[in-house]
Amino acid sequence: MQLILNRIHCKKCNTDVISRNRYDMVGCGCTNQTCADGGTDYMKVSAIDMKMVEFTPVYIEDGVDKYRHAKIFRRNKLQKMKTEYIYVSAAELPTEIIELKIEEFEIDKNNSNTPSPYLTVLEEELKYRVMLERDKKINKIIE
Ligand SMILES: [Zn+2]
Repeated sequence: MQLILNRIHCKKCNTDVISRNRYDMVGCGCTNQTCADGGTDYMKVSAIDMKMVEFTPVYIEDGVDKYRHAKIFRRNKLQKMKTEYIYVSAAELPTEIIELKIEEFEIDKNNSNTPSPYLTVLEEELKYRVMLERDKKINKIIE
């Protein structure tokens, strides 16, 4: 199983906790101390009461219909003269941005032997869009 989104939910404070990178340990902030760690490499979860933790990760194996909506890509957002980060899904990215990001990943791939699972998400998103366009054309012909 390949993790795309390392996410858990703290039922005590009703917060999603997401670990973005291997050494990114994130806590919910409440007294249950619900913590996620491991990024897309592995899920390390801790809490005072594990019964208050709901597992809500997204895997490649869940299929493109699901993981294309996982908010995993960081984008800068200028807000009130400050740059803030927001996370968007592959489905929300413009095609030109996806193509640029794939190029970046291709360069990174040459420097490491483990390609990022996000590359798969982007490549599958482009295929998905091509299929969507084809379906639209076919539907027009049928009409
Ligand atoms: Zn909490």
